[in-house]
Amino acid sequence: MSCMRATKAIIHLDNLKHNIQSIQSLVQGGAKMCIAVKANGYGHGAVACARTAVESGADMLAVASVEEGVELRKNGITIPLLLLSLCSPEEVSDLVSFHITPFVFDSEYIQLIAAAAQKAGETAFPVHLAVDSGMGRIGCYPAEAASLAKEIVSTPSLTLGGMATHFAVSDSVDKSDRLYTQVQFSRFTEAIDSVRKAGIDPGICHCANSAATLINPEMHLDMVRPGIIVYGYYADEIDETYLKQAGLPVSLKPVMTLETEVCAVRQFKKGMSVGYGRTWTADRDTEIAVLPIGYGDGLLRRFAEHGFSVAINGRCFPVRGRICMDQCMVEIGRESGVHRWDKAVIFGAKEDGALQTADDIARLTGTISYEITTCLTQRVERVFVR
Ligand SMILES: *Cc1c(COP(=O)(O)O)cnc(C)c1O
Repeated sequence: MSCMRATKAIIHLDNLKHNIQSIQSLVQGGAKMCIAVKANGYGHGAVACARTAVESGADMLAVASVEEGVELRKNGITIPLLLLSLCSPEEVSDLVSFHITPFVFDSEYIQLIAAAAQKAGETAFPVHLAVDSGMGRIGCYPAEAASLAKEIVSTPSLTLGGMATHFAVSDSVDKSDRLYTQVQFSRFTEAIDSVRKAGIDPGICHCANSAATLINPEMHLDMVRPGIIVYGYYADEIDETYLKQAGLPVSLKPVMTLETEVCAVRQFKKGMSVGYGRTWTADRDTEIAVLPIGYGDGLLRRFAEHGFSVAINGRCFPVRGRICMDQCMVEIGRESGVHRWDKAVIFGAKEDGALQTADDIARLTGTISYEITTCLTQRVERVFVR
């Protein structure tokens, strides 16, 4: 720890726990919680977040690759793991031996899993049947659900553990998008009914991502699958204001604070330029602080094109010129009171001196908070606090 860089991500596991508990209080009627910890826990650190999720009452965790699941298993996570993406034939034996539950939706893939499960001596390896109700990604057509369910339950090594679908526009407040989500939900429940009519227990039925967990309690079914809200960011347009107006307030605290420190303060004369491309030139005498963080850390280059600022000593200062790979420059002006080695907060929790969250940056730069936290690179140390 003695050689840790100033640029680091503080991960507030206490806030993660708070968010999970807030979400739990919304989920009535005994629906289970499957928490998405894919992509290194949306950039927050998969193992630590998974442990906190388990402590906070998660019933299942969702990953995007077999490798992500294996990492959790090797770190003592024993609750069910759901694989949200497809794996390749090379990964199937690990999928089975580490007991990771896959989504399936076609015969070929069902038989691939079945063969590996049989080889491992499994007699009821659970798979979840994914239904494409309108996401246009993975899943069977609703009309195929019953025959695929039949195939699964008649395969000796497999059992139907559940049925799932995924929404395409549940995080939009647009009226036609709200309607599309309703249509997707109807198609999914019809698929579930068709499986039941065929005399097959569909298992755990689930479809609600963060947005639907927040605003569509009728869609919680047997389990919800929130991701982004667990980390303290809103689900795109389903933001704090919208939820308040809808009478569905929920308390979320940002889990990540991205911080660094001023590594130099430079005097600039009017006419001196900053950085690559000379895109910014001082129009008066001023002072520039250099920060040891850049796009190599995940501070995306295009942020600077949107009037991006950082907080130093509780004040907001604009980034000037282009963001470099390892450094960026902010204008602090003269007599700012900013000194070398002062802490600079890029985004995060108020308790760390942040003036903006990953949500604010997402809105400013035309993306979603998911991308901002997930794109933080490996060289940014995650420092866990409880
Ligand atoms: C990522 C993912 C989720 C969680 O989505 P959020 O918008 O972060 O809540 C749920 N289900 C599936 C299939 C996913 O891929």
